[in-house]
Amino acid sequence: MPAAGANASAPATPPAPHPEPPGTGRRVYNRGPSKPNGQVQMSQQDANVDPAEVAKFEALAARWWDPESEFWPLHRMNPMRLDYLDERVGLAGKRVLDVGCGGGLLSEAMAARGATVTGIDLGEAPLAVARLHLHESGVEVDYRCISAEALAAEQAGSYDLVTCMELLEHVPEPDSTIRACARLLKPGGQAVFSTINRTPQAYLFAIVGAEYLLNMLPRGTHQYARFIRPAEMVRWARVAALEAREVVGVRFNPLARSFRVAPPTDINYMALFQRGS
Ligand code: SAH
Repeated sequence: MPAAGANASAPATPPAPHPEPPGTGRRVYNRGPSKPNGQVQMSQQDANVDPAEVAKFEALAARWWDPESEFWPLHRMNPMRLDYLDERVGLAGKRVLDVGCGGGLLSEAMAARGATVTGIDLGEAPLAVARLHLHESGVEVDYRCISAEALAAEQAGSYDLVTCMELLEHVPEPDSTIRACARLLKPGGQAVFSTINRTPQAYLFAIVGAEYLLNMLPRGTHQYARFIRPAEMVRWARVAALEAREVVGVRFNPLARSFRVAPPTDINYMALFQRGS
C-alpha cells in the first residue's frame, strides 16, 4: 500500500501497541509455523508469504473498488502509474503479469489499455472481488491464486512486462519475489516495482502520520523494517539479471489527494528494470 492512507474506521488487524522505531537494517521475519529445530513447515514455492499480511487484505477486500474505502490511495495512484507504464513500456499488445494484483485496480486498467493481463495474488478474497468486477467492467483479465515463485516454475520467460506494485513491503523475502519476476520475463522484458523507502521520512509519513496521528490507514498496515531502500532493490534485481533503467519518486499531495511522479524517492517510489536479451 502507498504511504498516504485512507479514512479507515476499523483497523484491519488489532492495532500494534506502538509503531516500530526506525532501525537501520531490514528485519528477517519468521515466515510461519516452525518446527522446534527452526525449520519452516511450508513448501518451498509457497514459503515466501506472511499469512498475517494476506489476512489484512482479505478482511478489507469487499471494499476494494470503493474509491473512498481504505484503498483510496491505490485508486488515486492508479492513473499516475498507468500513464507511467504506458509511457515507459507501452501497454497495448503486451503480455503483462501483475504480481500481488489484489482486487485488480491496476490489472483491469492495463487490460483496458490493450494489454493481455494475468493477475496473481495469494489472497482469495481480493481475487474473488477482482473476478466479480470483470462482470461490471467487461474487461478481460486472467486471475490466479498462485505465488510468483510457483508461476515462475510454470511459465518462465513468458511476459513482456511484470508489474509488482505495493507488494514487496508485505513479503518476507522480497528478493525472492524479484527473482521470480525476473524469471517470468521474456528476454528484454521489463519489470516495474513500487514500494516504500526505509527512511525516517517514510517512517514519519507512512506509519506515524498515516496510521497513528491522522488515522488515514488501518494501524499495522505497514512495518517499518519491511520498507526497502532503492539500493537494496537495485542490488537484488541485479542478482536476478535485471538492469535498473530508472528509479522515480512518487509524491503525495494531501490537498489534492493525488499522486505524481517527482524526483524525491525518500518515501514512495517506483523502479523500472529490464531483463537482458
Ligand atoms: N498491487 C495492487 C495491490 C496492492 S495491496 C495495487 O497496487 O493496486 C498488496 C496485495 O498483495 C494484497 O492483495 C495481498 O493479498 C497481496 N499479497 C501479500 N503477500 C503476498 C504474496 N506473498 N504473494 C502475492 N500476493 C501477496
